[in-house]
Amino acid sequence: MIDLKQYEIWFVTGSQHLYGPKTLESVAAHSREIAAALNVSTEIPAQVIFKPVLTTPEDIRQLCLEANSAPNCAGLITWMHTFSPAKMWISGLNLLKKPFLHLHTQYNREIPWSKIDMDFMNLNQSAHGDREFGFIGSRMRLSRKVVVGHWQDDDIQKRIGVWVRAACAWADWQGARIARFGDNMRDVAVTEGDKVEAQIRFGYDVYGYGVGDLVKAVNDASDADVKKMVQAYFDEYDVVPVLQPNGEKYSSLVEGARIEVGMRNFLSAGNFKAFTTTFEDLHGLAQLPGLAVQRLMRDGYGFGAEGDWKTSALVRAMKVMSAGLKGGVSFMEDYTYHLSASGDKVLGAHMLEICESIAANKPKLDILPLSIGGKADPLRLIFDANLGPAIGVSIMDMGQRFRIVANVVDVVPTDEPLPNLPVARALWLPRPNLKTAAAAWIYAGGAHHTSFSYALTAEHLYDFAEMAGVEFLLIDENTKVNEFKDKLRWNDLYYHLDKAF
Ligand code: MN
Repeated sequence: MIDLKQYEIWFVTGSQHLYGPKTLESVAAHSREIAAALNVSTEIPAQVIFKPVLTTPEDIRQLCLEANSAPNCAGLITWMHTFSPAKMWISGLNLLKKPFLHLHTQYNREIPWSKIDMDFMNLNQSAHGDREFGFIGSRMRLSRKVVVGHWQDDDIQKRIGVWVRAACAWADWQGARIARFGDNMRDVAVTEGDKVEAQIRFGYDVYGYGVGDLVKAVNDASDADVKKMVQAYFDEYDVVPVLQPNGEKYSSLVEGARIEVGMRNFLSAGNFKAFTTTFEDLHGLAQLPGLAVQRLMRDGYGFGAEGDWKTSALVRAMKVMSAGLKGGVSFMEDYTYHLSASGDKVLGAHMLEICESIAANKPKLDILPLSIGGKADPLRLIFDANLGPAIGVSIMDMGQRFRIVANVVDVVPTDEPLPNLPVARALWLPRPNLKTAAAAWIYAGGAHHTSFSYALTAEHLYDFAEMAGVEFLLIDENTKVNEFKDKLRWNDLYYHLDKAF
């Protein structure tokens, strides 16, 4: 469902006419070579497209306008092989609406000690040319990522790739449609927020629907599609005996398949990229959609429970960012603690809706009571999540601004089997430890819902927040609670004053 090759990153080199046509030909040839190398780098998931070397304010302005209006252009990589007087860039950068990465590299890796002459010096002068470009970026207070190092190095291509993934997710948000079945869960605060402000800042639009709209799509699901869906369940999962064709709850399996077909039809007909549900509001639906949500998330849809549209959008963004990477992304909730001498742990889960993309084993398809909501027993996939480092990310509307807070964690095996736990789960040790991580999270007002990923790192989220112009707070092995509290206070001031700059 998510193909990052549809996106283009334009490789843009600045220069000037001072050096004469011969040097400019070399600049173009080198630039083309670097763009081609980045284009085939396994670290960089989108296309990298060479653009002709820019030498005049008119050309720069034109390029920026073209980038703005090119729907597949997710961002620019800029590089000043030679010196490009930065007043030439003001008009274009003023108009540019796409994110950009400033690649501070040099075509030639090393100084040719015995051969270096003034021609070499005039061609390989990004050491000062890029500083002139950097000045105008800072003078204009432009958000961008600066990456320094030789363009052939793996670590440089990796850092560019991280930014490209964030840029693709940002492009995906622009004009994205999110379907909200029912409203916010009653009286929950953190899942609320200003949808108009979110649309202005983030570019996505949240559409509200009555559950009846979804019920109609479920009722309209064709028997043939439902039959195919049931077969997919048997092909993909270990289905418990009561849900087998001769089992006493087989009809619930068929009902669950009908809900999934209906949801898929609704979401695809409306061109939605993400959605929310709420168990408070299920009029006309026999079961809370659990299995259907798990499978839709697996296929790339963003999801938030209890009307949580902000987390739903974030899950979608992280699905896009991680497309093609191992590890998966899921909606998640900090559910319950294991406070023990061996390390305080968090058991993450939800009532049902954990994405199977993070499953470590073949999921079991089961049907069990929900115990809240007063509806028929819902289908759900049960599994243990992958082990290893992961990141939990949440986004809140703080009234004056949106805030993203993230915690790096290590997912570990459960101490013992959990034969009675009827939901998918992940057990983790937060970094640096629960006492620090949870205190910092709570001071930051971090939500109980997160988007949880094994594929992404803090750098992906940092780059994404930079593009969105949103506060980003990281809790990791270096976090100290008092310093974190100070940062919260300083950020309050900064984001207040930022509007006046
Ligand atoms: Mn919840």
